[in-house]
Order: sequence, then structure tokens, then C-alpha cells
Amino acid sequence: MHDQKDSDGSGQNSPEFYNKLTASVPVILYTYWLSADGGEHRYPYVSRRVADWFGLEPEALQKSADAIFGIVHPDDLAGVGESIQASARNLTTWEHCARLKLTTGEYQWFEGHSEPERLSDGSTLWYGQFHNIQQYKELEQVLRESETEHSYQAGFQKLIADLSKEFINLQFGTIDECIRELLKTMGQFFEVDRAYLFSFSDDYQSMANTHEWVGPGVPALIDRQQSVYIGNLQWWQQQISGMVSTDKVVFIPDASGLPDIAGGEKEILERRGVSSMFAVPVKIRGRVTGFFGVDSLQKRNWREDQGDLLIIVSGLLSGALERHNLEQKLLSQSIRDPLTELHNRRYLMPRLEEMLGRAARKHEPFAVAMFDIDHFKQINDSLGHLAGDYVLTEFAGILVENTRGMDVVARFGGEEFMVAFALDDTDDVGGMVARILLAVRGHEFVFEDLPIEVTVSAGIAAVTDLPTIPSSPDPVIGKADHHLYLAKEAGRNCFVDASGVFRP
Ligand code: GH3
Ligand code: MG
Ligand code: MG
Repeated sequence: MHDQKDSDGSGQNSPEFYNKLTASVPVILYTYWLSADGGEHRYPYVSRRVADWFGLEPEALQKSADAIFGIVHPDDLAGVGESIQASARNLTTWEHCARLKLTTGEYQWFEGHSEPERLSDGSTLWYGQFHNIQQYKELEQVLRESETEHSYQAGFQKLIADLSKEFINLQFGTIDECIRELLKTMGQFFEVDRAYLFSFSDDYQSMANTHEWVGPGVPALIDRQQSVYIGNLQWWQQQISGMVSTDKVVFIPDASGLPDIAGGEKEILERRGVSSMFAVPVKIRGRVTGFFGVDSLQKRNWREDQGDLLIIVSGLLSGALERHNLEQKLLSQSIRDPLTELHNRRYLMPRLEEMLGRAARKHEPFAVAMFDIDHFKQINDSLGHLAGDYVLTEFAGILVENTRGMDVVARFGGEEFMVAFALDDTDDVGGMVARILLAVRGHEFVFEDLPIEVTVSAGIAAVTDLPTIPSSPDPVIGKADHHLYLAKEAGRNCFVDASGVFRP
């Protein structure tokens, strides 16, 4: 009888038996029945735990399964329905994950697993369980995030490595292209709307936009920002001081939230359509010379370490600009005369060779004029070497003022100067040289309050004066030198060309 059944375990068909058995496992055990036409469903058996977890009564679920479907997360409902139909149709294992609403109102992830069986009336009955997998889902999310983060960091490091390599292999004259490339790469990587480089004037009173990248459809501003006066922008001046003294990154998370003293700055950012921005100092030999910045036109969430990543980029830019400046300086030192800052002979000679090449191939003529200051030794001897240097520097200025950008003006040696004139058919070299002689005569040379009388002589040689176009510039120079000698012979303060002496 009753007691007997229980003691030998043969009461295993009783609901109490199942309730005791299923209470011991942390899952919900069930049988789920679906009618052949799919119109009716119920849980003939479901563990009592369904009440603890979801507040649903097993007795109600025995009549209809609707209540369970009522607590499935709306986004997961369609997936649950489809997977059950597929399992019924093909009699394949039903395995599915979905979020269900707990008695607390919170949704958590559950995984179900059951085996279907077709009954004689065409309906289907599943035997199975479902259990809470929230912890696994959370762990999975953490792993996915850390993997995303890891690949972001790796991507950033690779970018920096690639860009550094590009900067290391930089050729002369390609720095601007490389900087533009870097801005583009970084702009796209950080998903911003603009990335740019500004340089400050020495007194930090104005700034100029030197390079810019803009995303698709974003208006470019570089042309309008070539000389921006910032002396009156109090807040921005404070930020610059911060950049200069402590390498501070300027971060404006929300332009509309700038303090009152930043009224001017706010207006500028509004005009640029900027919602949020970063500015990171760029330094050359320890001095802040400008900043690298990025704009976002929309409100956005920045990474917590965004400033640090941008500092790495600006470090790269600083290094490249520093090297570029040094190279430019060395380059100009090697091709310029330090006293007059004119080009030297090392620069002039290859230019003359180029001009010879163009004369031979394209019939583009040119002429050279050799200038020599008259009685220069007397100036040195009577007033001193510094007075001589002063005269040389002044004369160099006169030459630059009275020649064109396409002419090459060089200090040939001592107090001899050479101008190579690129010519077309209508150019009159004699007229240009005459103008220089007159300019020297009309110029007031005054050194330590003493006026100095200065005149020059010149010899002109045109490449067309020679019987054939020579392969080296020497015959042209030799001819100009000879004409200069003739000008000195003729009494100085004049010039000589193929047709004789001219005294302007
Ligand atoms: P001439 O009219 O015949 O040209 O007479 P000159 O005195 O100019 O003659 P010369 O060409 O012999 O003199 C050149 C002088 O220029 C000699 C040299 O000491 C001086 N000199 C050369 N380079 C420099 C320089 O860099 N600074 C100064 N102050 N003098 C220089
Ligand atoms: Mg001389
Ligand atoms: Mg001389």
C-alpha cells in the first residue's frame, strides 16, 4: 500500500517522486507537447522550479504553455518559435538559447535541450531540460570585449610601427605627403571627422593650419585657417600654457559645455560644427611648436585612453618634424653662403648644368652675369673687414631685389657674385644688369655712420654667344669672367657683353 510503495521506491510514478527527484538538480525538467496542427501546446510535466524562477505554476503550464512564451524576451521570441517548428518537422534535437524574465523582472539567458518524439496522433512530445547560462554569457561577453580590445591595441601598434617606418625612410621633400597620410590613417582609425596639425607663431599669439584630413562629406577648413589670431582667446591661451608647461592634452568632451571664459572658443567650434575634440602638443627639440588634433562633429564616447593614444601619434609627428627641420637646416647650410644667405657655388653649378641641358634640348637660352665689387680691398683696408662684410650683405640684397624668382643668384666667391638669368626671346639681360648697377649706385651704404661709395662691374655671357652649346658651364663662366676683366679695364662701374662696354 502507500507506505510500502514509498519504502521500496516503487511509487516512482507519483508526482511527489518526480518533484523530489527534480528538486535535486539545478535545471528545469519538462515534457513539452505540441499538437499536430501546432495550435495547442502544454507542459504535461514541468519541475516545480519553474515557479521559483519564473513565478509560473506547473499546474497552469500543464493546461497551456502560453505563459512560458510570455516571459521570453521579445527579441528572442521569433527564434524560439522557429526552432521548435524545425525540431518538430525534422524530429531533430531541440537546442536553443533565449532570455527569460525572472520573478525579479530581470531577463537572464537560458539554454534548452530536448529530444522530440512523434505520437500516433501526429502531435509531438519533447523530453528535456533548460538551465540558466547567464554566467557563461557574461563570461563570453567579457572575453569578446577583451579580444576586441586586444585586436584594437594590436591594430594601433601595427599602424604606429608602419607609420614610423615610413617616417624613417622619408625622402627629402616628402614630409608633407607623409603627414597627410598619417592624418588620414589616424582619422580613419579613430573614426573622427577631422585630423589636423597646427603650428603656433613663436609668441603663441597666432596659429596656422599646416595639414588637414577630413572624412567624407566633412567641410575642409585649412584654407581659412592660415593665420588665426588667438591672442584674445583667454581660455585657449590657458590651454596652450598647459601644453607648454606640462605637455597637457586638451580634451573638450562637449563644446557646448565649455566654461564662460571660453565664449570665443565656443563660437569658433560651433562655426566649425565641432561637438567634441582633442588637441595634443607637438614638440620640436623640447619646444611646443604646434598641436595635433582631432574633431568629432557628433557627440561620441571616447576611449578612456584616447588621450594617451593621441600622445603616441603626436610623438611620432614631433620626431618626424624635428628630423625634417634638421635636414632642411643642414641642406640649406650646405647650399647657402652663411654671410649673405645667397646660394653658393655648390648649388649654382648643377643649376647651370640643368640650364645647359634645357638650352641644348629645348632651345631655352640663358645668360650669366659675373659681378665684382670695385676696389673692394680699399673698403676692407680703410674701414675694416666688418664694413666689407656689410657691403657684401647689402649688395646681395640688391641682387635679390632686382632679379626674378626663376633666376639663380649666388655668391661665387670672395666679393664675386653670379646671376644666372633664365631667358626667353624678349628678355634683355643687358637691361637687367644695368638696373642692378644703377641700384648699387643709388643705394646708400652706411656703416657705423660712415657713408661708403660703392660701385660694381659686371661681365655678361649668354649661352648663345658660344659657337656651340658646351657640355659644362665652364666656357660660359670663363667668358663672363673675361668680360668682367674687360669692364675693369674699361674703368669699372660698367658692364661688358658680347657687343662691348656699357656704362649705365
Ligand atoms: P677690383 O676693383 O679690381 O675688383 O679691386 P678689388 O679691391 O675688389 O680687388 P680684389 O678682387 O683683389 O679684392 C678682393 C678682396 O675681397 C680681397 C679679400 O680680402 C676680400 N674679401 C674676400 N672675401 C671677403 C669677405 O667675406 N669679407 C670681406 N670683408 N672681405 C672679403
Ligand atoms: Mg675680385
Ligand atoms: Mg673687386
